[in-house]
Amino acid sequence: MERTLPAATGFLAAVHQDGGRAPAPVFASLGSCALEREERHGHTLHTGLLHTGAPEAARAYGPRCAVVFAGELYNQAELRSLLPPGAGPDGDAQLVRALFDIYDLHAFRLLNGRFAALVQGEGRVLLATDHAGSVPLYLTAAPGRVLAATEAKALRTAPTGRPLPAARPVRRLPGVHQVPAGTVLEVALGTGGCTAHRTWAPPLSRRILPEDEAVAAVRRALEHAVQVRMGPEAPLVVLSGGIDSSSVAALAAGRAAGPVDTVSMGTDEADEFPQARVVAAHLGTAHRELTIPTDDLLRRLPHTVWAAESLDPDIIEYLLPLTALYLRLGGTGRRILTGYGADIPLGGMHREDRLPALDTALAHDMETFDGLNEMSPVLSGIGGHWSTHPYWDREVLDVLVPLEAGLKRRYGQDKWVLRAAMGDVLPQETVLRPKLGVHEGSGTTSSFSRLLTAAGVPQGRVHHAKRLVVQELFDQVVVAGRHPDEVATEEVVQLAAGQLESRTQPIS
Ligand code: ATP
Ligand code: MG
Repeated sequence: MERTLPAATGFLAAVHQDGGRAPAPVFASLGSCALEREERHGHTLHTGLLHTGAPEAARAYGPRCAVVFAGELYNQAELRSLLPPGAGPDGDAQLVRALFDIYDLHAFRLLNGRFAALVQGEGRVLLATDHAGSVPLYLTAAPGRVLAATEAKALRTAPTGRPLPAARPVRRLPGVHQVPAGTVLEVALGTGGCTAHRTWAPPLSRRILPEDEAVAAVRRALEHAVQVRMGPEAPLVVLSGGIDSSSVAALAAGRAAGPVDTVSMGTDEADEFPQARVVAAHLGTAHRELTIPTDDLLRRLPHTVWAAESLDPDIIEYLLPLTALYLRLGGTGRRILTGYGADIPLGGMHREDRLPALDTALAHDMETFDGLNEMSPVLSGIGGHWSTHPYWDREVLDVLVPLEAGLKRRYGQDKWVLRAAMGDVLPQETVLRPKLGVHEGSGTTSSFSRLLTAAGVPQGRVHHAKRLVVQELFDQVVVAGRHPDEVATEEVVQLAAGQLESRTQPIS
């Protein structure tokens, strides 16, 4: 039976030479936790799988290796064609195991998905992220042991590991590292030493295409990415009425048997409800509007840091409205499609005509997205839902990123190629609507800033104060392991304002 949610949405796994013990699994994401212990190749593999009812589909044990897999694959049919006829592994973990037997770690170069995986082979442990690192994966390693988890907080009580030059140290959590995006990290169990193998990199060259071919290629790739993310029931699309999410909603509506659900969030200060309504009416979706009072929104800052495990204040501010939305959705676990991330390969944030500047910004954004965790499934996972982002499908990125800049900014429009690709299924006013970020459309940036100025932070120091707030929240909910319900945003804001003041006071 096809399932609405992936078999597993997270894991904690430990491989020990001496039996060892694994820390108790701790996740912000909701779900049941299945614990298992397995002896193989003279090592013990402990797993704690955060699952949705079928943990067996997220683990696969074979003679050569064991696979632990959180998330999902989007090119199963292609992948199956590589296996002998009749070999029909059920779940994604079984498929990865079968491919690993043939290709070894190069199997990960074949996958298009949203996942984090651990493979235990003889004398080594492999930790793999998808091309975008969209499911964060962390580890600590020392001779004779490797611990890995999809949430950093799960490793906060693990014994400190050795430095791993091939991985990214997580600030404020000594010994914990993050596996880079599009990477298989190969750890030698005996020594704890590790090697990184890149499995995907953003294209650096640019393709020149006639307008109509570029438009058709974008439409085809996006249509496919939406189709493979649909699941057995009509999905829920988080809809702002901007071109990115409206395009996803239109393509999902074109595919679903029944009406697609859409939901828009706003606050008592600002919303994009009228613009989303136009799209919902045009597509005939079952549409819902959720107004979150600004005070309640800001109270979700600790939850956003807890879920994203990011120290970047801009990212947290950007993620806050959607996290608040996911927590308010209620109901049983939904498959959620977003329009997230289209601006990165298309340079949508870039609001002027100069093409060299556009391509510079784009190349920079594609080089620096890794580690920000803005696509983490934990953001919706804390509400029990599974989100997926069609614009960051591997094939979509491989089409969008290399398009020459003049196809992205054209006739005075940002994201021109996308707008042109969607003209036949969306209202003209939506196709022409200028970009508005979710943090702007919901008033989040201004209300967060006001919270700080009300606490005495001078205007010019607001951004720095936001950084201090996010850092303090990270220390409390990730490093110290406090539940975000116990953390009051106002108190943390006061603390940050106090820190800032004491630093700027002249020493008498
Ligand atoms: P544009 O970038 O042109 O404004 P967009 O609004 O769809 O298009 P973003 O502003 O980048 O995209 O927002 C990222 C994603 O977050 C959206 O595609 C949508 O899925 C979701 N989102 C943004 N704002 C809202 C909102 N108010 N309600 C529900 N979902 C939203
Ligand atoms: Mg928008």
